[in-house]
Amino acid sequence: MSWTRYVVLLLVVLGAASVVGQGPPGGPGGANRTPAHDWSADMAMKITEPFTLASVGDVIIVRPASQSTDPGVQGAIKLVRDADVGFGNFESLIRDENKFVGPLGGSMTGTREVAADLKAMGFTLMNRAGNHLMDAGVEGLFETTRLMEDVGLVYAGVGRNLIEHPSVSISCYLGRAARLANLDRHHTQMQVRFSSRLEGCPPGDMCIAVLARSGWHALGQRVGSLYFFVNKAYSQGSVTLRSADPAEEPLVDFRMLSDRRDLERLRAAFRFVADIAMAGELDGVRSTIFPTNYSDRVRKVSRPGLRNAMQMRVLAGMLGALPPLRSWLIDTLVTGGVTLADLLADDATLDAHLNKTVAGVWHPVGTCRMGTDPLAVTTPQGRVHGVQGLRVCDASVMPSIPCANTNITTIMVAERMADLIKQDAS
Ligand SMILES: Cc1cc2nc3c(=O)[nH]c(=O)nc-3n(C[C@H](O)[C@H](O)[C@H](O)COP(=O)(O)OP(=O)(O)OC[C@H]3O[C@@H](n4cnc5c(N)ncnc54)[C@H](O)[C@@H]3O)c2cc1C
Repeated sequence: MSWTRYVVLLLVVLGAASVVGQGPPGGPGGANRTPAHDWSADMAMKITEPFTLASVGDVIIVRPASQSTDPGVQGAIKLVRDADVGFGNFESLIRDENKFVGPLGGSMTGTREVAADLKAMGFTLMNRAGNHLMDAGVEGLFETTRLMEDVGLVYAGVGRNLIEHPSVSISCYLGRAARLANLDRHHTQMQVRFSSRLEGCPPGDMCIAVLARSGWHALGQRVGSLYFFVNKAYSQGSVTLRSADPAEEPLVDFRMLSDRRDLERLRAAFRFVADIAMAGELDGVRSTIFPTNYSDRVRKVSRPGLRNAMQMRVLAGMLGALPPLRSWLIDTLVTGGVTLADLLADDATLDAHLNKTVAGVWHPVGTCRMGTDPLAVTTPQGRVHGVQGLRVCDASVMPSIPCANTNITTIMVAERMADLIKQDAS
């Protein structure tokens, strides 16, 4: 069977581009035109020597092609190899047949060897856009990207670098005097930054908030929480397409605590906060201390409504009237049997609890990261790489998550971008 059946290389552009000695913007007859935008001002790197860029349109390839004896294929490969930079749009998928778990996809799915072969063919950077991106589901999309990464091929990073502040809480049943008397007041009474001192992590990399109310209902009004999170988090998740249907919600995978540093710091913080909660000085303020658990059951009874309000009032009444049974009721009805003592006794049990109960703080950032490297989505001015006239101006341009809440940070990003847009216009 001919190699050309497997290889479709549409050579779109083979450009010899040189910015050396470039003429004035506007070109011939430019006197009456609006002066063209000087794009070189946006470039962090300026090319000062003549160079050759080979840009290949739809690279649809399912098995290694560089050893093909077809002269046409070899001729096209030579053009890419001889260029200074080889850029292509890889439209098919590849998978490791021994390990891949996921849908098999259509006829455009090749073997893992294709990745190394693309590199050998002279490609430096592979874009991933095409009709077949989702043929093998999200699993196939990630598998292809992973295999390309393994051989050092760079791809565009949209949807990667999703970062949040991972949080967990420890709660206490509050004595009457410690409860929030004025329910119109915000439940957060205090927020403090502290430092984990884990090597390589910046000062103020952790945060704790003290909440004098943990829910809208009668039980929530009797429960206070010490709510703590990793302020400088390193775990990265992703936002990707769930299907080719634009009406379907995307797949958001935070992968919180996947970075060892985040898990280690949250574990240490759990022990630190438990010590605070159990301190004798608080004996007059709280009684039962328990690990907070936003289980499906807790979520269900937390939905505002008359039925839940009544249920929670009954439970709150029982907890108030039967102090000796309080711990047992909380263990049975709230935490699902998980006690603070169990968690503090064993790191593995604690880690399992942290991984199960970790939640965000509504601070997602990073999926359109600014930068000048090939994985960056936007330039330091917020322009989308490779797209004219489009900027991103929100929390998604942050390259990493700040050691701070994200509202004012986002407002400052917006102020800066507004200045840049005004500068460009003037
Ligand atoms: C419940 C909650 C509590 C928070 N509390 C705090 C806090 O106490 N302190 C703090 O610092 N930060 C807090 N944050 C985080 C902070 O609000 C965000 O980091 C910040 O708003 C992010 O700004 P943004 O512009 O990136 O996104 P957003 O503020 O979400 O703005 C996105 C905008 O796009 C609009 N939009 C979406 N889709 C479309 C569409 N298809 N067409 C047109 N418009 C569209 C939306 O309506 C929205 O106005 C909280 C967030 C949440 C959700």
